[in-house]
Amino acid sequence: TPRVQILNVRKQFAATAGRTSSERDNVAVNDVSLDIAAGEFFSLLGPSGCGKTTLLRILAGFETPDAGKIMIDGVDMTNVPPNRRPTNLVFQHYALFPHLSVEKNVAFGLGYQKIRGDEARQRVAAALEQVQLIGFENRKPHQLSGGQKQRVALARALVLRPKVLLLDEPLSALDQKLRREMQVELKHLQRSLGITFVFVTHDQEEALVMSDRIAVMNAGRLEQVGPSAEVFERPRTEFVARFMGAANFFNGGARRFIVRPEKLSLRPADASVNGQLVSRPVTVVERLYQGLSTTWTVREAGGGVLSVYEQNSAATQQGSLVSEGQPALLCWDRCHEVEMEAK
Ligand code: ADP
Ligand code: MG
Repeated sequence: TPRVQILNVRKQFAATAGRTSSERDNVAVNDVSLDIAAGEFFSLLGPSGCGKTTLLRILAGFETPDAGKIMIDGVDMTNVPPNRRPTNLVFQHYALFPHLSVEKNVAFGLGYQKIRGDEARQRVAAALEQVQLIGFENRKPHQLSGGQKQRVALARALVLRPKVLLLDEPLSALDQKLRREMQVELKHLQRSLGITFVFVTHDQEEALVMSDRIAVMNAGRLEQVGPSAEVFERPRTEFVARFMGAANFFNGGARRFIVRPEKLSLRPADASVNGQLVSRPVTVVERLYQGLSTTWTVREAGGGVLSVYEQNSAATQQGSLVSEGQPALLCWDRCHEVEMEAK
């Protein structure tokens, strides 16, 4: 059995006063079904307001679904209170107690579980070691950096030894550099502990870096669920393609498909192109040199603007062959065309 099973879960909030609400407006989670395996790093990815937090709170037991079920290890948890579930939630803003030391913050939840004395001390020490905070036991939250506070919040969840750790945008308060570091750290931690992580983020790069699988959410529904690379390279809907970034859309009769920028190449307008490749005449609008790579913007005769991404390795320099303002051929292999589902 999967560790977590979400079965046809739906949650609708009462309409906000003063707002005319169609159904779509306030259905936060709309008939979501999902299996998550033991030991998986699973991400819920989508724009603000799409229902990520609500779904996570339903898993944690802080919200009750209007319909559907939550099973953990095959046991129905739908009506079990949060403290009796094998889950624990790490909040977006660490929510540490400012007047308590690191040690007491981490120990806090153990009281509710009637874990005291030596057992409690051992558990706290083990959790602090897991997040590399040995030696910080007596500090107060204001004496910690953002990254250290985040680790205390993690330790506080880990000390309860959950089977499933739920994380709601835990890195969103950190600056870019620290965020990258914490992504790697969190991923290593998850690997070494073997705990199932359900991780919420609105950042597609973050989801790609960290996850085994990703569920892309849109307006309360699941758009696509799959391994990171599959969601990135083979998006099934326009929404997913746009959300994962920089997709080029093409119309081919009744079909609509995308080709990702890194799968396109530019040739001189008079080049002869082998039969394997599709080619279309374009005009080169702009060349943007970015050190490791170059991004070209080109325009099709029909007016569509497309981007072409090129690694700046010595073997493949298109730069010397085509130039801004000039016609060129845009080429790709048919195998890189990704069909969009009709909606
Ligand atoms: P996300 O975490 O993806 O940003 P949320 O789950 O927080 O999305 O919100 C999904 C939708 O549900 C939003 O339209 C939000 O306004 C609404 N919502 C969330 N919580 C409540 C609540 N307690 N009362 C009313 N509406 C809510
Ligand atoms: Mg949220």
